[in-house]
Amino acid sequence: GQCVRVCPTGALVENPEIDKVYEALNNPKKHVVVQTAPATRIALGEEFGLKPGDIVTGKMVAALKQLGFDKVFDTQFSADLTIMEEGTELVKRLEKGENLPLFTSCCPSWILAVEKFYPELIPNISTARSPQQMFGSVAKHYYTKKAGIAPEDLFVVSIMPCISKKFERTRPEFDDDVDAVLTTRELSRMIKEAGIDFTKLEEEKYDSPLGESTGAATIFAATGGVMEAALRTAYSLLTGEELKGDAVEFTAVRGLEGIKESAIEINGKTVKIAVANGIGNAKKLIEKIKNGEAKYEFVEVMACPGGCACGGGQPYTDDPDFRQKRIEGVYENDKNSPKRKSHENEEVKKMYEEYYEKPYSEKAHHELHTHYASRRIEY
Ligand code: SF4
Repeated sequence: GQCVRVCPTGALVENPEIDKVYEALNNPKKHVVVQTAPATRIALGEEFGLKPGDIVTGKMVAALKQLGFDKVFDTQFSADLTIMEEGTELVKRLEKGENLPLFTSCCPSWILAVEKFYPELIPNISTARSPQQMFGSVAKHYYTKKAGIAPEDLFVVSIMPCISKKFERTRPEFDDDVDAVLTTRELSRMIKEAGIDFTKLEEEKYDSPLGESTGAATIFAATGGVMEAALRTAYSLLTGEELKGDAVEFTAVRGLEGIKESAIEINGKTVKIAVANGIGNAKKLIEKIKNGEAKYEFVEVMACPGGCACGGGQPYTDDPDFRQKRIEGVYENDKNSPKRKSHENEEVKKMYEEYYEKPYSEKAHHELHTHYASRRIEY
């Protein structure tokens, strides 16, 4: 790729990851692709005078194209893929009654907390890689084959609302699939450095084949969203029927409450679910489970209060209601999506047909799942 403008020298030394990205963009041998997390599109606008929750998807895509990325892809594509894998895993565990509750695995701060403080819960954590890492793996294995690119020429950049995603990328089991992680704030800096007038940009669309997504992927950005997205697909897998219209909305798991609990009837069985909003609430929830006060089949944990929409890499704001506003943007985005269930994503379906065969296949296990190990700290 070709970068539109070389970074001013001062900025290069300040941030080695931005430095790496500029270098790749300026290296004609590299094919540089970027993925954008669900939470980026409802907050990036704040850096350019817009309000928290304003949806800037098309302008963000346009800005990334101007910055010189060869393909602009979407982490929401791999969020839908995560649901295909994790939804299947949930259904299998429910059928066998094994390792329940299933805990979500897309937040690296939560995973680290489990490895350090609750390693006995490791068998309960979903083995599905996070959307960021699924994207990295799919880009390296599936996309390079399809596009005829040598894997060593591919450079994968993530734009994330999260500082922990920088750590996640370096975990040895992920084989350097993702080459650099920039926060939403760091992306805004690149856009400013390139002199792009963000609010005036014409909206553009994500590239294919890793660019399509559904409303289910969009809501990954809000606390309760991964749970809701998984339920939309698990319902279909378990009953063979589809939730229609607004029936896809599981409002009991939405909102900024610390711990949200609900129960859903599927096929005459009750599935008990809980969402821990923030790592402090996860601790409380685990205590409740351990002392027998509560029993669940499926639990979502996100370390940041509000979820990734309010992650540590998002724009700074002095709006006291930013959490609420960003989350409203997330659900508005879902409502406006023509498709709202991950299993309706055509590009994901096509990838299974062409490559992974089906969710939970052997190839999927190798490339889309992972394992965890105790890092218990003894005091
Ligand atoms: Fe990162 Fe926070 Fe989202 Fe966890 S909840 S993935 S720490 S932004």
